[in-house]
Amino acid sequence: MPAQIIDGRALSKKIRQRITEESSVLKEKGIIPGLAVILIGDDPASHTYVNNKKKACEECGFYSEIYKLPESTPEADVLELIEVLKSRKEINGILVQSPFPKHISEKKILLAIPPEKDVDAFHPQNVGAIVAGDFDFVPCTPAGVMEMLNEYNIEVSGKHAVVIGRSNIVGKPMSILLLHKHATVTICHSRTKYLADITRQADILVAAVGRLGFVTADMVKPGAVVIDVGMNRKEDGKLAGDVDFNGVSEIAAYITPVPGGVGLMTVAMLLQNTLRAACIQNNIVL
Ligand code: NAP
Repeated sequence: MPAQIIDGRALSKKIRQRITEESSVLKEKGIIPGLAVILIGDDPASHTYVNNKKKACEECGFYSEIYKLPESTPEADVLELIEVLKSRKEINGILVQSPFPKHISEKKILLAIPPEKDVDAFHPQNVGAIVAGDFDFVPCTPAGVMEMLNEYNIEVSGKHAVVIGRSNIVGKPMSILLLHKHATVTICHSRTKYLADITRQADILVAAVGRLGFVTADMVKPGAVVIDVGMNRKEDGKLAGDVDFNGVSEIAAYITPVPGGVGLMTVAMLLQNTLRAACIQNNIVL
C-alpha cells in the first residue's frame, strides 16, 4: 500500500488559522505581533522565502518590516540595524535570512539578536535552552516536523529516529527534539559509513541533506515514517526534496511531499514563535 502523505499544506493552514485567531485576541489588548526580517544580497531563493514570510505575516494580522540590503552592506550597518530593531517595542521578532554574504560574520549577527526576539532560535542562549529541554522558541523547521508527527499521531517514544544532516538549523535541533520525545536518535552526516545500513533501521527517517533524490527506496525500512526536509531545484526549476518520493512512497508508511510538506510548516512555526515572542514580551498568557 502506498504511504500516507503527511499534508503540510493542510496542517500549516490549520495552524495559521489558530494563530490568526490568537493574533486577533492580542489585537483586542492593543498588541500586534511584529516581525522584522533582514535580507542581505540577491539570492533568489532567499527573496522567495522572505516574501513568503511577509505574506504569511499579513494573512495572520501581524506587523512586518522587510529590510532588503545590498550584498555589499557592511557588517557594522547590519549590526546597527539590529541594534535599532532591538529597542523597538512593536518589533517582537528579528530574523536575518541565511545565507549571509562572506564578509558578514554569522556568529556576530546571531549574538546581536536578543534571545527574547530570536524567533529563529539560533542564539546560543536559545540553543542551550533547547538542549536543556526548557525553551521558549524552537528552530522553525524541526518544530514543524514535530508538529507533523504529532498531528498524525505518530509515536516517537521508543522509536529509532535517524536524522541525515547535522546542521545547526535543521539536523542538530531536530535530533534534540526527537530525543526529548524519547526516540533513540542516530545522527548521520557526510562522513557516516554504511549510511544505508543505518537508515534501513530507522522507524522515523529525517532527510536534511540538500541533495536531490538522495534517499532511495532501498535505504528505507518498510513501514517507516519518512520526513523530507530537503529543498532542491530540479533542472526544470521545480522544487523537489532529498527523498525519491515515488520510490520511497511504495515502501514507507508515511511520507512528506516536497513541495507541500515541511517548507510550509517552517513558515507556520515562524509565525508561532513571533506570536509567542509578543506574548512573552507583553506578559500575556493566551
Ligand atoms: P547543510 O547545512 O548543507 O547540511 C547538510 C547536511 O547534510 C550536513 O550535515 C552534511 O554533512 C550532510 N550531508 C551532505 N552530504 C551527505 C552525504 N553524502 N551523506 C550523509 N550526509 C550528508 O544544509 P541544511 O541547512 O541543514 O539544509 C538541508 C536541506 O534542507 C537543504 O536542502 C535545505 O534547502 C533544506 N531546508 C529546508 C527547510 C524547509 O523549510 N523545508 C529549512 C531549512 C533547510 P556534513 O556536516 O558532514 O557536511
